[in-house]
Amino acid sequence: MNVLVINCGSSSLKYQVIDSETEKVKAKGLCERIGIDGRFAYQPAGGEKEESEKPMPTHNEAVAYVIEALTNEKTGVLKSLDEIDCVGHRIVHGGVNLTHSYVVTEEIIKEIEDCSDLAPLHNPAHILGIRACQKLMPSTPMAVVFDTAFQQTMPEKAYLYAIPYKFYEEDKVRKYGAHGTSHMFVSQRALELMGNPAHSKIIVCHLGNGASISCEIDGKCQENSMGLTPLDGLVMGTRCGDIDPSVVEFLCKKRGYSVEEVLRIFNKESGVLAVSGGMSDFRDLADAASKGNDRAQLALDMFAYRAAKYIGSYVAAMNGVDTICFTAGIGENNGMIRGMICDYLTFLGLELDDEANKVVGDEKLISTPESKVAVYVIPTNEELAIARETVALLK
Ligand code: AMP
Repeated sequence: MNVLVINCGSSSLKYQVIDSETEKVKAKGLCERIGIDGRFAYQPAGGEKEESEKPMPTHNEAVAYVIEALTNEKTGVLKSLDEIDCVGHRIVHGGVNLTHSYVVTEEIIKEIEDCSDLAPLHNPAHILGIRACQKLMPSTPMAVVFDTAFQQTMPEKAYLYAIPYKFYEEDKVRKYGAHGTSHMFVSQRALELMGNPAHSKIIVCHLGNGASISCEIDGKCQENSMGLTPLDGLVMGTRCGDIDPSVVEFLCKKRGYSVEEVLRIFNKESGVLAVSGGMSDFRDLADAASKGNDRAQLALDMFAYRAAKYIGSYVAAMNGVDTICFTAGIGENNGMIRGMICDYLTFLGLELDDEANKVVGDEKLISTPESKVAVYVIPTNEELAIARETVALLK
């Protein structure tokens, strides 16, 4: 089956066509600046990337260009629209009710709309993408795959905040976690690599510009470091992660900021960017630290320390750990950070293989045979996870 995977933002649309039998990407691309001036990119597997400016007042035009490119006589990978067997849409937030993947129906679209207050930038954009696909491919079956779904197995004691219960019951305030599709993909792959043992305990570190850590018992998510929103948890590229909520009031009073202004700073001007004094890319940070920049080194130290604290707390939450996995931009590519985090974890009997830990971007076991905890680098693939979910659901 050919699965068109769509990831819609308010002014962008990422797409991939995946052959579900071979799990290979046939073509991929990106529509940007939707509603502004419109940029279009398309790349067939093994072919040249084409980029052009195309008018895209709405997501409808963007989807039309995607179909046009995929079925183009010269560079297309499909003969006609009919060769798109199904569409899988990535949805950021499914609230409390949408607990797994679903076939798209009007009721499901209404549910996605109903939890838009939990992801105001994303969910409305996802609906625009679904509507645009429905318009151009009215008879093609579609599925929605939620970033929050994998975390729905977290127990109450993990997802509730210790604040008045009515805020949970009436306003749906709780921990939802994030990067669920990535945590699902990586933990499932780890289980395969472990030989699917019973009672498995896995920790997944999704370390990218946005970063989160999760833990799974028997493949079921128990915890995720993100909270009601993706601001919580680890120190990130530009986000502060865990912070005493009283800092908000303190800064508002002291500096005359609004709450929105403080939260904007916590989201966009904090994290390693703030600590280092201007760098959020870990390649820049590593380079600067190696040249003696103390603030860059401090940012790296804070990042690794916070990550190690989360791992330690999840080892306690699960009363043990068999496997720790690293994924996403930093987790897959940055052996130095992996090493810095694992240095805190030798008390578990964890032993990294320094040579194997040099791996960049490939799946690899990076712990020694003697290590009491297996450590893997597992490249994430959210699009493939969405394609798999879509096919499983529609079959
Ligand atoms: P992501 O949000 O998953 O795309 O991750 C972005 C982060 O990954 C940035 O901080 C990059 O510096 C880091 N990253 C990406 N590629 C590499 C690489 N080859 N080596 C080191 N860090 C990398």
